[in-house]
Amino acid sequence: MSLIILGDQHSIANQFLNEIRDKEKQRDRMRFRKNMERMGEIMAYEISKKLAYSDCTVSTPLASLTSSQLTTQPIIITVLRAGLVYFQGFLNYFDQAEGGFIGAYRKEGGEEIHINLEYLAAPNLAGREVILVDPMLATGKSFVRSVSALLSHGQPSHLHIAALIASPEGLKYVQENLKVPHTIWTFAVDEKLDSRFYIVPGLGDAGDLSFGDKL
Ligand code: URA
Repeated sequence: MSLIILGDQHSIANQFLNEIRDKEKQRDRMRFRKNMERMGEIMAYEISKKLAYSDCTVSTPLASLTSSQLTTQPIIITVLRAGLVYFQGFLNYFDQAEGGFIGAYRKEGGEEIHINLEYLAAPNLAGREVILVDPMLATGKSFVRSVSALLSHGQPSHLHIAALIASPEGLKYVQENLKVPHTIWTFAVDEKLDSRFYIVPGLGDAGDLSFGDKL
């Protein structure tokens, strides 16, 4: 497993993440969503540096020059509903990308947590670079469950797991259970999970903060 922690470098991304985490500032839903989207854009830009490029010719009004462009756009998959706003940031940059959606939710049962996966809509993934976008890598179970469902749509050439915040427990679980070549990207690795499997300090519930409480 390769792990890239973008927040280890000083950048404006850390300011956006601070605002996303801040319990007062995160109540401004427009700012929260905007910051999630901006973080998606920043991560998309960083991942774009690892993708394949081909030469291309660009003709300006004055002359032609040789440049480079993405050989193929990656496929971006997200997990409903918490991933939606972050996902939009990826689409803003990978603006011709195909997308896919997974409907998965946590079912807490005492000491354990189970992931129910009820919906999957994705293109053919065989031989493609795939980015799986989900902001909170908490237990890691929803990522592993989502990837095993996605493999029914073909084996990607490489899988990028794009989290916003990860827990040490989740990283360990993914490392031990994900059997396809992958890179994990995150802005921060936090301290731990709490008894309800939320990341501490984390940010709270990303889905509720983006869209409101569930019934
Ligand atoms: N999902 C969230 O939204 N927050 C967490 O801390 C863990 C999972």
